[in-house]
Amino acid sequence: MKTLQDLFEDMLKDIYYAEKKILKELPKMAKKASDPELKMAFESHLGETEGQVERLEQVFKLIDKPAKGKKCPAIEGIAEEAAEIMEEAENDEVRDAGLIAAAQAVEHYEMARYGTMVEWARQLGHTKVVKLLEETLKQEKGADAKLTKLAESGINEQALAA
Ligand code: ZN
Ligand code: FE
Ligand code: FE
Ligand code: FE
Repeated sequence: MKTLQDLFEDMLKDIYYAEKKILKELPKMAKKASDPELKMAFESHLGETEGQVERLEQVFKLIDKPAKGKKCPAIEGIAEEAAEIMEEAENDEVRDAGLIAAAQAVEHYEMARYGTMVEWARQLGHTKVVKLLEETLKQEKGADAKLTKLAESGINEQALAA
């Protein structure tokens, strides 16, 4: 990698791989969630994630590159932790609190990536790409905020009582 454009393309492949991994993980998390609002939050973010993958494909098209993923060890590790929580939690309430924590690690990883990529795309003069990535960044922040609200409005307390 010699240029900022190279770095941008590498990160684009990383997040494309990560979003596709998230598409596979969110249904498992929705299935394991017992709080109905938490379940709904995962299902609704799954729908958003499908749109995010499409947006990334538009970005590849705009920069004239084939849509291709590159293995993201970070999302593999975050997903592995989520799977551990789902297996090791011994009751629904504690599992829900753990699922929120795991999902927030995913959202924060994505926020870090999209935040960087929006700025690099701006520097590189890819104006349409900036718009697309900003739209996704907003959804990731929204998903994170919704999870915080669910944790603070009952799920953590229920875990404490369990
Ligand atoms: Zn990644
Ligand atoms: Fe995403
Ligand atoms: Fe990565
Ligand atoms: Fe997300």
